Amino acid sequence: MQIDGDESSNVEDRRSDGGGGGGFGGGGFGIPMGGGGGVFTGGLGVVGFIVLALLFGADPGEILGGMTGGGPATHTPSSPPSSSASRPAQAPAADPESQFVGRVLKSTEVVWSEIFRDMGKVYREPKLVLFRDATRTDCGVGQAAMGPFYCPADQKVYLDLNFFDELAARFRAPGQFPQAYVIAHEIGHHVQNLLGISSQVQKMQLSMSKRDGNALSVRTELQADCFAGVWANRADRQRGGKMIDDKDVDQAMAAATAIGDDKLQRQTQGRIVPDSFTHGSSAQRTRWFRIGLDSGDYRKCDTFRAQQL
Ligand SMILES: [Zn+2]
Repeated sequence: MQIDGDESSNVEDRRSDGGGGGGFGGGGFGIPMGGGGGVFTGGLGVVGFIVLALLFGADPGEILGGMTGGGPATHTPSSPPSSSASRPAQAPAADPESQFVGRVLKSTEVVWSEIFRDMGKVYREPKLVLFRDATRTDCGVGQAAMGPFYCPADQKVYLDLNFFDELAARFRAPGQFPQAYVIAHEIGHHVQNLLGISSQVQKMQLSMSKRDGNALSVRTELQADCFAGVWANRADRQRGGKMIDDKDVDQAMAAATAIGDDKLQRQTQGRIVPDSFTHGSSAQRTRWFRIGLDSGDYRKCDTFRAQQL
């Protein structure tokens, strides 16, 4: 993988902070459960409709009104979110790994700003926090062992770079593109948050059986995979098709197959809930990543209406 260009200014480096203050009992990567739990049982037609409305044509004010994290609809990237966990952002250290993360993040900003503009909306850039071991978030204490995750309440992606070593060693997904895919997947959750999809899903899950709720989570996760593919397609095109080659794609597929997902944060509970049944099967994950990658079209990522996952 070759990614050139500027680095994002939205990387928040907390790696020198030490632990964010333990006390979190959870853990584990959420290693995929083989066949992938959460069989779709039907009955989600209404959900599909609502999510679609949000995605493709609802009133922007309505969508922004449903956004978590509050705040005005205007684009104010410089104003820090009201986060008890936020610290003054430090300039990221100039190490190759964080530079790579910064470039990928920047590229997601370019791509999604463009897509949102086409939708007549404004993309609000998320922060990406680099941390070690543990750190505080508005969704509770985030731990490295949970893998990368997105916290909708503070609109930040959290990443311990050691996860990339895990990716290479434990999950046999070496190379940079799988790393970029992981970041792009988390950004996909941010996109879902901005579009009001996450809050709709969470609202609906409150009145659902656990099983149906999990099925809905699977669709949410697969959509984030698809969004990651959309990013890759467009970022590659912006670089004249020189960003990734077939080998990179194979490696990312291996990653999609192998890794357990982050956990969708549940703001309603204000903490991070490990749930390893909500990621979709390996085949589903690679399929949806591929759909985004081949098309570059976010409208193809309607996992909520898809008959077949
Ligand atoms: Zn996810």
